[in-house]
Amino acid sequence: MKLSPSRLAWGMWRFRGADTDAADTLVRTALDAGISLLDTADVYGPDNGEPFGAAEALLGHVLARDPALRGRMALASKGGIVPGVPYDSSASYLIEACEASLRRLNTDHLDLYQIHRPDILAHPAEVAGAFARLRDAGKILQAGVSNFSAAQIRALAAHMSFPLASMQPEFSPLSIGPLSDGLLDLAQELSLAVLAWSPLGGGRLGGTGADKRSRDVIAALDVVAARENVSRTAVVYAWIMAHPARPVPIVGSQTPARILEATQALNIKISRTEWYAILTASRQEKLP
Ligand code: NAP
Repeated sequence: MKLSPSRLAWGMWRFRGADTDAADTLVRTALDAGISLLDTADVYGPDNGEPFGAAEALLGHVLARDPALRGRMALASKGGIVPGVPYDSSASYLIEACEASLRRLNTDHLDLYQIHRPDILAHPAEVAGAFARLRDAGKILQAGVSNFSAAQIRALAAHMSFPLASMQPEFSPLSIGPLSDGLLDLAQELSLAVLAWSPLGGGRLGGTGADKRSRDVIAALDVVAARENVSRTAVVYAWIMAHPARPVPIVGSQTPARILEATQALNIKISRTEWYAILTASRQEKLP
């Protein structure tokens, strides 16, 4: 793996508001818990009723107050979603977008820069060229993608002048596509880090289950939670991490106690039988 992330990451899609003290507490909670990979994006803001760039700017305020925090984290951001367009991965746009992210974040480089969603109109050679220019300028250390298909990742990897570091698919016991669409196999083939977004299904696995499938998955998770005496959400993270591609769940909670609780996942043992029982509950169909 060319990127050596912490086993858990913390995500800032839901990171919002004007309270820098509260934001600082969240960042320190993650870092103090050993969750050192922080994942944000330029487009995090509008989903929270805030402007484009707001989540990056909030982290930038935290870093401006205590620049030493920057050295404790691996900072990942994303660009390429442009509200109203909707995607632009032209080289000129990506370079400008990355530079704007750096300004908002009050940092001179990103540890990982990711294309947020594939732009069908951008040739992978152009995207690879933008990554190379950003890396040569010291603005990014590693490059990755999110929401790309296996074929799109292969096409980009073929044009890269340095190895692609990561992919970021949606992956959870409720979103099991990466197990069979070739993504996790490709991650192992190319030694890509896998950052799993919405590991709790956007919080659905923290609740009681809105449909039979969710309830069946929750019941299978609760068997392990009871045996290991841990929270169900920790079992979810452990289930994700048990795959041999070593996916890194991006914890989305903005509650310090829940961020801390996620670290229970590091000590959970899930048997093969239990792991497959959770998968079977999600498939709603026995494995052959
Ligand atoms: P998630 O962990 O699936 O959901 C987090 C949500 O679940 C929070 O609102 C949290 O609420 C809630 N929740 C309910 N019960 C919980 C419990 N017991 N423990 C923990 N949380 C509970 O993750 P997500 O926020 O949807 O996504 C995580 C990260 O993935 C994002 O921050 C972002 O970095 C990344 N992401 C990437 C993409 C992409 O396209 N690349 C898309 C979506 C997300 P509280 O905050 O109140 O705890």
